[in-house]
Amino acid sequence: MSRDPNCIFCKIIEKKIPSQIIYEDDTVIAFEDVNPQAPVHMLVVPKRHIPEIHSMTEKDRELVGHLFFTAKNIADQEGLDSKGYRLVINNGAGAGQTVFHIHLHILSGRRFTWPPG
Ligand code: 5GP
Ligand code: ZN
Repeated sequence: MSRDPNCIFCKIIEKKIPSQIIYEDDTVIAFEDVNPQAPVHMLVVPKRHIPEIHSMTEKDRELVGHLFFTAKNIADQEGLDSKGYRLVINNGAGAGQTVFHIHLHILSGRRFTWPPG
């Protein structure tokens, strides 16, 4: 499994940095965001270190699909479907990405505006 020793999410995956884990399997992990932007704010992260959506390749196709499936399963488990939830991926610093290891934000528990800020 490819890891970057300087990457904060790789360190969370390796349990070198603690996190509130919600779900984990062989290829993805989900944990609470340390700085929540909504009453519910979780991150779904592939265990493979892929810096951003724009750097994924054909071999990541299934893994990225699995990220979304995992988010849907977590939303089911946490009863988010009736409230509505937003899934977000920021790609690149200009779009607000600050951690360069792909992650899918799950946000819920308040109203969200559109277009996003
Ligand atoms: P981005 O801005 O890259 O789309 O999202 C990065 C997210 O990672 C932010 O929401 C930020 O709060 C979260 N984050 C950054 N460092 C940590 C950490 O050490 N632990 C956890 N649980 N979340 C983090
Ligand atoms: Zn990483």
